[in-house]
Amino acid sequence: MNVGILTIFPDFVRVIKEYGIISKAIENGLLDIEIFNLRDFTKEKHRVVDDYPFGGGPGMVMKPDPFFDFFKFYTEKYGKPYVLLTSPQGDVLNNEIAKELALKERMVIICGRYEGIDERVMSLVDMEISIGDYVLTGGELPAMVITDVVSRFIPGVVEDESVKNDSFYNDLLDYPHYTRPRTIDNMPVPDALVSGNHEEVDLWRRKESIRKTMMKRPDLFMKHQIDEIDKKAILMLFKELMKHAQ
Ligand code: SAM
Repeated sequence: MNVGILTIFPDFVRVIKEYGIISKAIENGLLDIEIFNLRDFTKEKHRVVDDYPFGGGPGMVMKPDPFFDFFKFYTEKYGKPYVLLTSPQGDVLNNEIAKELALKERMVIICGRYEGIDERVMSLVDMEISIGDYVLTGGELPAMVITDVVSRFIPGVVEDESVKNDSFYNDLLDYPHYTRPRTIDNMPVPDALVSGNHEEVDLWRRKESIRKTMMKRPDLFMKHQIDEIDKKAILMLFKELMKHAQ
């Protein structure tokens, strides 16, 4: 997959290519991230990308022409990409959207700044994405968040099993994780995890996933499709709660 990020702060965004799983995915040829400086597509000597808003009011607006010139250049070079605009007004990013986006071959993410972008640029945009109901100073962090979450759904970037156990995948939160030492400050690792019995481990993990989801995100649990392991895990959880209640 190829992700282009269009920004006036290329150095800010560049770090996403340099660390962890994303840098490995790039190394392994599963992902390519190209960062474009919007100022390279301005015609003025001072490479200005903003202007005063028609109708007055506070703040500046990103000029439309550098965007149109960038997409003309990009499309001539690579073909038409799927275009995302980072915006607090967009669909709020979640796993379902990320999975869909991971199927795109080429995607360009536009980072806004100032009061936002001239509305006519919307004619170039396929989807507006928000990363939450708050307003950031720019689209660079959202672009990095989108790139990161979408990358995890590109086959081969993260182990399939790992993605499936993560929070939200099946409308459950992830189970608790432990590593060595086996005991710290009188807090031992739960017996099931050191039993060496895979079925016991799986059942314990599902039970704890369900417990966490019911407590922290009951809305998510209400969407979860119950299977046979869930039934056993819920029964186990219920027995545990009854024991504590006695
Ligand atoms: N005036 C705009 C509004 O209220 O809808 C907000 C502009 S914001 C200061 C500047 C840029 O930051 C936006 O164009 C967008 O690219 C980005 N941005 C801010 N909050 C965001 C969010 N929650 N999700 C995605 N992008 C966001």
